[in-house]
Amino acid sequence: MTPPNSAANNTAYNNETRPLIPFNKAFIAGKELHYISQAVVLHNQLAGGGVFTQRCHALLEELFNINKVLLTHSCTAALEISALLMRETWGSDQSPELNAIMPTYTFVSTANAFLLRDIKPKFCDIREDTLNLDEAMALSLVDSNSCAIVPVHYAGVSCDLDQLFEATENTDVAIIEDAAQGVNAKYRGRFLGSIGDLGSYSFHETKNIISGEGGALLINNPKYKSRAEHIREKGTNRTEFFQGETDKYTWVDLGSSYLPSELVAAFLYAQLENIQFIHERRRSIYETYEVRLKILAHKGVAICPRIPEYNESSYHIFHLLCNNEVDRNGLIAHLKKNNIHALFHYIPLHSSPMGQKLGYKQGQLPVSESVAERIVRLPFFFELKLDEQDFVCDKIYEYFGI
Ligand SMILES: *Cc1c(COP(=O)(O)O)cnc(C)c1O
Repeated sequence: MTPPNSAANNTAYNNETRPLIPFNKAFIAGKELHYISQAVVLHNQLAGGGVFTQRCHALLEELFNINKVLLTHSCTAALEISALLMRETWGSDQSPELNAIMPTYTFVSTANAFLLRDIKPKFCDIREDTLNLDEAMALSLVDSNSCAIVPVHYAGVSCDLDQLFEATENTDVAIIEDAAQGVNAKYRGRFLGSIGDLGSYSFHETKNIISGEGGALLINNPKYKSRAEHIREKGTNRTEFFQGETDKYTWVDLGSSYLPSELVAAFLYAQLENIQFIHERRRSIYETYEVRLKILAHKGVAICPRIPEYNESSYHIFHLLCNNEVDRNGLIAHLKKNNIHALFHYIPLHSSPMGQKLGYKQGQLPVSESVAERIVRLPFFFELKLDEQDFVCDKIYEYFGI
């Protein structure tokens, strides 16, 4: 397949000299620097909690119908606050052996946040079709020491969340969404992150909406609000103090420093203002890959991701699943030779050195292990051009001899 405007009529684009197609590239939406200068010059606010932090809170709450949003310096921080809330709710005496159920196929922060509070991650396998939590297996792992189930919305789609809610409805088990990749995605018409008791977003440079480092804690169950505000503000009642609800600014609870600087919030606000524009561009990139690469499944060499009918995706990742590890590694090498950066990820946490220390064994969660060996993530960023996508697809066809 020869794409329009391709190598055939443009010598700059032959294999040897074509510029690198990176895996990711940060996108500047427009007003980021303008808002940062406003924060500095107009508002004279550098620390967290100023005008732009409040604007981000209000916009996120309104856009996604979330009860209370608190910006954090990362999604990791939001998960840590969530784990602290679980530990404080459940106490240390009654349940010293607390656990939280989560997929093994996820980023380390999902597990670390809980482990730091002595809550043991109970790793669950994933579904081969969406790479999300296997609902039935997750529910089978719940026991009397389970404080939470943590679905991770891989690539911006979710598992069938209703199954988790129905099974935990009259129990104390919280649902904590790791929606790091699920900003602006939906499950049955509701936004990911707005559904569980708690949720978290990431605005890391590698995500869809960015602020360098950054994240947000999403509080849907109001019983966690006051305590979460204390924890995020170093264990103080600073939030109530500034809202005039108390006249003494003092130490009231456990806590740490989880606020992002106002400069980060100013940057983020410019991105959030453009969220639909960014979303539509990513959808178009995703759909282009999907159309061009469907043939791989017909040829039996690799499959494209699947978005369940109950989801609207955030289009965070476009991946292929090859038939085996040899094919996958060969494909990445072939792309690299052509100056295209494709990646794979997630050594399943249970099979990592830390997972082994926790007592897990290789072979225990076979779907995740198999997916980790076969997955390839293709270049995916706002400014990826159509002719670059064509080139990536051509090189994939070439590798598989199509
Ligand atoms: C990116 C990511 C995180 C961590 O986000 P940070 O903002 O970098 O802390 C956590 N969980 C998942 C699933 C992620 O993709």
